[in-house]
Amino acid sequence: MAGGLAGAPFATTLAAELADDVLQRFLRYVRIDTQAAYRTPQRPSTEKQLDLSRLLVEELRELGLADAHLNDAASVFASLPGQEGAPVVGLIAHVDTTPDVVGAGVSPIVHRAWSGARIELPGDSRQVLDPEQLPALAERVGHDIVTSDGTTLLGADDKAGVAEIMAAVAYLARHPEHPRAPARIAFTVDEEVGRGAEDFDLDGFGADVAYTLDGTGLGELEIETFSAKSIRVTIRGLSVHPGTAKGKLVNAVKLASELVMSLPQDRLSPETTEAREGYVHPHRMSGNAEKAVVDLIARDHDDAQLEAHVDLLRTLAEAVATREPRAQVEIEVRDSYRNMRPYIEQDPRVVEAALEAIRRAGVEPKLAITRGGTDGAVLSARGLPTPNLFTGGQEYHSVREWASVQDMAAAAATVVELLGVWTDGPSSGV
Ligand SMILES: [Zn+2]
Repeated sequence: MAGGLAGAPFATTLAAELADDVLQRFLRYVRIDTQAAYRTPQRPSTEKQLDLSRLLVEELRELGLADAHLNDAASVFASLPGQEGAPVVGLIAHVDTTPDVVGAGVSPIVHRAWSGARIELPGDSRQVLDPEQLPALAERVGHDIVTSDGTTLLGADDKAGVAEIMAAVAYLARHPEHPRAPARIAFTVDEEVGRGAEDFDLDGFGADVAYTLDGTGLGELEIETFSAKSIRVTIRGLSVHPGTAKGKLVNAVKLASELVMSLPQDRLSPETTEAREGYVHPHRMSGNAEKAVVDLIARDHDDAQLEAHVDLLRTLAEAVATREPRAQVEIEVRDSYRNMRPYIEQDPRVVEAALEAIRRAGVEPKLAITRGGTDGAVLSARGLPTPNLFTGGQEYHSVREWASVQDMAAAAATVVELLGVWTDGPSSGV
């Protein structure tokens, strides 16, 4: 067991050795506000994300990764040398946090050797982690659980992944005898606004295979994402002073609300679907009587179904325009990413190596699907197969986000083991 932690045991002695470093890094990184922003022209979407990126460059250099730098796409790139002839393994996490929940002023709390009682977050009495409603938490009695104070997100998505990669690299730097394939490290920005892999320099990265550490539950390997599109509906009305509006005002706010309310409620919504079921999700609305904008995302694991969801939205938007011909309704559809599964399945070793690494880290591996996307979905489609490994973080994009130190340590150990696995396998043919 690692020094200072008196909770549940770790999966392996390696995980125990990594635990304290993972935790200390995690606590340091989550305090840095790296919230991304939707639909800004600049890159990164917010300058403050680079506060963490620059710190990571410094820390990587201190660990001896002399080439660590911030590149033109605002990604941190660094190399960890390894066995000659072995495939080069990419390790990727993102520094940004979601714009949907407050990300500034995070004060993490470590609930050491958690007793199993409800965790009331001190900053907001409404925010309670109830093990009766959170089965993954209920299974972690005795673990050291990290939460926010209830007023902000925690930022385990994806600072758990960042801390785990960093702790694994630090361990390997301290243990040159430990077998490892050469690794390339990337910390991206703006993943949460769908721009994580934008301008990602695949040639400069130089990896043969890669893994994002951006998943959740212990032991999970995600090889399947949604295919996703983002849609913006712009409704133009006619604004008139309400005092003289009779017969003239066409209120874009009301029309936008009409459109949103005409979407299916009991199906095709994230709050009413699970597993492989897709959805059309309005996530932002803004405007006034003159002009209103509704931003939506459409997602499905099946590309044909995804098209059908977009068609449904088009039909509903056209219906609004038909009912109020004085309004103008425009719809703009953008591709976000594609399901990565067919790309990953082209090289079965990518999945096999990860499952073996999870096993060596003392954890039962399980294949999972993600009801979202990752940087890896975009990279896989561009030719770098990149499944998603667990981080131990849970309840993402919520002020009730939490992470188990034991699980984070297991994820860091999985990274160390993964680089070992890739030296055992066939070193040619990639
Ligand atoms: Zn993430």
